[in-house]
Amino acid sequence: MRKRKKNLVLAEDSCYNTVNQKGDTNAKEAAGGRRRKKGWAKNMDIMYQSTRNATEQAKASEAILKGLASDGGLFVPNRIPAFDVSLSDMAKMDYRQVAYEVMKLFLTDFTEAELKHCIDSAYDAKFDTAEIAPLREADGAYYLELFHGATIAFKDMALSILPHLLTTAARKNNVKEEIVILTATSGDTGKAALAGFADVPGTRIIVFYPKDGVSPIQEKQMVTQRGANTSVIGIRGNFDDAQNGVKAMFGNKELAAVMKQKGFLFSSANSINIGRLVPQIVYYVYAYTRLLGAGKLAAGEKINVVVPTGNFGNILAAYYAKCAGLPVAKLICASNDNKVLYDFFTTGTYDRNREFILTTSPSMDILISSNLERLIYRIAGNDAEKNAELMKSLATKGCYEITDAMKAELADFAGGYATTTQTADTISRLYQKTGYIIDTHTAVAASVYGDYVKNTGDNTKTVIASTASPYKFTRSVMTAIDAKYDSMGDFELVDELSRLSGTAVPQAIEDIRSAEVLHKTVCDKDKMQDTVEKILGL
Ligand SMILES: *Cc1c(COP(=O)(O)O)cnc(C)c1O
Repeated sequence: MRKRKKNLVLAEDSCYNTVNQKGDTNAKEAAGGRRRKKGWAKNMDIMYQSTRNATEQAKASEAILKGLASDGGLFVPNRIPAFDVSLSDMAKMDYRQVAYEVMKLFLTDFTEAELKHCIDSAYDAKFDTAEIAPLREADGAYYLELFHGATIAFKDMALSILPHLLTTAARKNNVKEEIVILTATSGDTGKAALAGFADVPGTRIIVFYPKDGVSPIQEKQMVTQRGANTSVIGIRGNFDDAQNGVKAMFGNKELAAVMKQKGFLFSSANSINIGRLVPQIVYYVYAYTRLLGAGKLAAGEKINVVVPTGNFGNILAAYYAKCAGLPVAKLICASNDNKVLYDFFTTGTYDRNREFILTTSPSMDILISSNLERLIYRIAGNDAEKNAELMKSLATKGCYEITDAMKAELADFAGGYATTTQTADTISRLYQKTGYIIDTHTAVAASVYGDYVKNTGDNTKTVIASTASPYKFTRSVMTAIDAKYDSMGDFELVDELSRLSGTAVPQAIEDIRSAEVLHKTVCDKDKMQDTVEKILGL
């Protein structure tokens, strides 16, 4: 008990923002520490700086436009703000109101009108429930269903608002160029970004996906995308190849110059953009305040959060929520067979030198978790130089090792992983026990959570991020329940899933039943830039 208590104190410590060297931070106050002067936070803009260079500073809108810092680092807020409305007040608000209260703290150069316009344009009837992100209790945990948007995966939570944040940011910064969104996807980002940006004036979107690395439904969703400003390209390679290709184009100064001359500006819809990260903080606050409002949590009671993780964006958002004052105890990072993060949390060594495994949770088939860099930077004491050194090691050797002091800062996190078999067993078991059917990614989290409880006895109330609808991964989900389903066609399976789960087939699936394939380009992984130049006529 004593040890646990100590861990919790440590956990709070690690949230202190060390940029403000006096230690007089908001997060500290949120955690019940020293008081800050009233009004201080309101008057101080949050600035974003690179994880690799402390001198580059950008306002939120500028960071959203740029996506990646010019030195290849990621933008991080120079401090984590604390909530200035109580959780019990937020419990009375709807999703959009909570979104405003959270996002205004991070996007300080957006006016109230601008931000509310973005929020209202995003979280509307595109979602099939007014709750936007409903909670479902099953087998002793709360599943936070983040898949009620246009493309039925959690990427919609951020990508339905990013186009609005981005076009608002462009207006604010007098950007005249057409914005070209360049995105690598492991399946879900691509479609969600396409849906968000399709026919948005002043934007184009080009999506690269691993030709043989996404589910049939994911691929069909992307290649049937309408919109004159959309391009979808399969690459002969895996997700990391696609992501590296996109990163290389972002870092290519000659290409940027040619683009500018032709009236184009690159931006990113990948989860490295803070315009995606910030909207993801919202639903953790929303989930907590729903439980609080329903009397399932006492004021101040901590929850655990389990997140099925790939690029480390979603769980980082949960961590930022904790740092802003959300009562969260453990952040449980769930990996599939590509368990590079599990190994990192257990050993302190990040090592991508391993076989890339194709699993039934393809959106988590990732060996370089880009957003982890933001956590590394933070646990290094917001030390850009130290972080840059580690990232250089990752780029050249494929691995790096953190110090013991940094390891101690990871007390907030627990890592776990689930094999493909464990994932399938979890889907089956939960269905047999409760009738609730979850997708493969969510099942990775559910499996890891089961192991975590078994190993620790920790009975803290727990929210599991449910990141995709089972309709998106129908074959894996249905064959997990019964092998006999493997002989059925994709859409037969959809109807069978609807029957078993008693849920209606989502519109996103109905839409692709008969849709025409509009995108047929496939390219080699080293020809991505040529393809982009052709599309833009450079
Ligand atoms: C993208 C994705 C994940 C991984 O999220 P990260 O933010 O990259 O860690 C998990 N599940 C699904 C269904 C996804 O689409």
